[in-house]
Amino acid sequence: APIIVWFRKDLRLDDNLALKAAADSGRRVISLYIREPPAPGNGSLGPAQDWWLHHSLVSLQRSLGNLGAELVFRRGSADTVLDEIVRETGAGSIYWNRRHDPGGIALDTVIKRDLKSRGLMVVSFPGQLLHDPMKLVTGAGGPYRVYTPFWRALERMGDPPSTVEAPRRILAPEANPRSERLADWGLLPTAPDWAREFPEIWTPGEAGAATKLEAFIESAIGGYREGRDFPARPSTSLLSPHLALGEISPARIWHATAGLAGHIATDDVVHFRKELAWREFCYHLLFHFPALPENNWNDRFDAFPWENDDDLFDRWTKGMTGYPMVDAGMRQLWRHGWMHNRVRMIVASFLVKHLMIDWRRGEKWFRQTLVDADPASNAANWQWVAGSGADASPFFRIFNPVLQSEKFDPEGRYIRRFVPELSRLDNRYIHRPFAAPTAALEHAGIALGKDYPCPIVDHGVARARALTAYKSIQGE
Ligand code: FAD
Repeated sequence: APIIVWFRKDLRLDDNLALKAAADSGRRVISLYIREPPAPGNGSLGPAQDWWLHHSLVSLQRSLGNLGAELVFRRGSADTVLDEIVRETGAGSIYWNRRHDPGGIALDTVIKRDLKSRGLMVVSFPGQLLHDPMKLVTGAGGPYRVYTPFWRALERMGDPPSTVEAPRRILAPEANPRSERLADWGLLPTAPDWAREFPEIWTPGEAGAATKLEAFIESAIGGYREGRDFPARPSTSLLSPHLALGEISPARIWHATAGLAGHIATDDVVHFRKELAWREFCYHLLFHFPALPENNWNDRFDAFPWENDDDLFDRWTKGMTGYPMVDAGMRQLWRHGWMHNRVRMIVASFLVKHLMIDWRRGEKWFRQTLVDADPASNAANWQWVAGSGADASPFFRIFNPVLQSEKFDPEGRYIRRFVPELSRLDNRYIHRPFAAPTAALEHAGIALGKDYPCPIVDHGVARARALTAYKSIQGE
């Protein structure tokens, strides 16, 4: 009887243990992707990631085709679809790679039990993370709440298991089950095409992921530690959207950074691996605190007096706050479906602390607009910035968006790229056009309040207000 390989957030042939085991079994293999209805907490995708998913599935379909296999597309709840396919094909086993978001875990547990009770074989494999989150526990057997000891424990685990190559051949079933047409799923934007610039940056699919990894190792990992904070520099790997849908395994990335010691500073390699470990830590937190995307990890923040002004939120989403670094970030997000990590921290802090808007609204906006939207990394990082999370940055450390901008984009290159109306403004004022003398503005052709907004809040006032609000939830 054939084996069903159910693809989920593992849209790759390389280092795909479920696929490899099925292909090596010598049995016929049905490759399946199910478009599941959004379930709470299971990391449902937003429109930007849907764009990515569409192209990633096209790419996977093509690579499977090269091995003689077809990718079957079906919509519906996974238990029903799997039932139907078992009936249509007489399949006897289902293989999948485990997912670690709470909604996914809950669904998989039920599906596994049901299928097994009907005599089917269900086999699940690791691969979404470097290490099984169940294995990383504190000395007392509990979860980690602080990153540094988590990282030390992860280091102690040693390298992740070695990777497996893509199968050379897949034995197709005599007849594939019915497939829907991917084009009918409506994953791509209709007019207006807000994703039109995405292909300039991104090539969804595992070949695109491999190219990004190669380019990073060749030209960016050296100097990563320092360079990663400067948004105008091409210093980071841009692997996050590929990781989000599993087009490349974290173990593959980890191993690719081994053996560089001869020509790359160890500090750079370790720092990069520490970022991969942050992803792992976010999953660790989500695994042990499934409400992470919805509830404050620190429940003291439940009483935080959010202002939640809709107009200010709208201006933030559009990159019209009057703070160039914040606006550049929000516009990069809209145009590329991605934002540099340093700028994510700045815009998130601005939303929560300057505008006093609940981090959950920001988290949701990011989920809809990021191609790398990830239930663990997004929620954990938002809570980290808001100060409500595990091992969070203290609330009272309030980023000054102007100073951050001067420090990390000293020549205003990043700002000029995404806020072109300021492109002719002198370096001295590009971070704070509201402080520029009239002559400098005129020279740059900017009428403040018309061509570019005046600040929607004053930094000093906003800072004092945020600190007062924070005091109110401190309790004596
Ligand atoms: P690199 O610097 O090349 O890092 C390599 C990999 O390490 C990344 O691809 C990513 O998988 C991981 N990584 C790096 N930084 C972090 C981090 N702070 N937390 C967790 N993993 C990290 N990342 C997402 O993948 N999805 C999200 O939805 C997401 N939301 C975020 C929201 C906020 C408010 C903030 C501050 C950060 C968020 N991040 C998220 C983390 C980080 O910004 C991105 O992972 C990073 O910018 C991706 O770019 P890169 O692949 O070039 O990173």
